[in-house]
Amino acid sequence: MVPDPSTTCLGMEYFCFEGDGLWNQSDDALLALAESELRSMKLIKQEHLIMDGQVVRVPKAYPVYDEGYQERIATIRHELAHIAHNLQLVGRNGMHRYNNQDHAMMTGFLAARNLLGGDYNLWAVNTDAEYLEHTQQERWVPQKVVKA
Ligand SMILES: Cc1cc2nc3c(=O)[nH]c(=O)nc-3n(C[C@H](O)[C@H](O)[C@H](O)COP(=O)(O)OP(=O)(O)OC[C@H]3O[C@@H](n4cnc5c(N)ncnc54)[C@H](O)[C@@H]3O)c2cc1C
Repeated sequence: MVPDPSTTCLGMEYFCFEGDGLWNQSDDALLALAESELRSMKLIKQEHLIMDGQVVRVPKAYPVYDEGYQERIATIRHELAHIAHNLQLVGRNGMHRYNNQDHAMMTGFLAARNLLGGDYNLWAVNTDAEYLEHTQQERWVPQKVVKA
């Protein structure tokens, strides 16, 4: 993404709420903070020069899963199973599920296989809905729908 191969582009994410202390800092202050953290974590060396930086504030970046959303999703799933049983629901927003990128892609792969005649249960992807960062999980194996 950079024209000069001796340079690189680094992205840093800071999580905050719209209007809080971090959000309201100036771009210059945020760029200085990012640089000091990159240096103190030794992700860049002291001799490395930061040539430029950009701040992008993204309001409402993170979806909020409110209390009781799972029951409402269950109602929608139940209804769709009756009226549109060949509809494939995939991804983070398509399933309104706390999926990371791997889960989102896996549901896409399995949905494609279903359209080719497969019988995969897309809701079995990310069943535990845990933060992967917090748990050591076994390698997930695609689960076929078990027919009674
Ligand atoms: C702030 C943040 C940080 C994250 N960090 C991580 C992380 O570190 N690691 C990780 O694994 N996951 C992370 N995730 C989760 C990850 O981004 C999602 O799980 C993944 O991107 C979901 O992929 P998706 O294809 O389901 O949806 P998306 O990536 O949201 O893609 C949906 C696409 O559909 C488009 N779209 C929506 N409506 C329409 C329409 N009507 N017509 C046409 N196009 C439409 C949207 O513009 C979008 O491009 C993060 C998410 C957020 C919000």
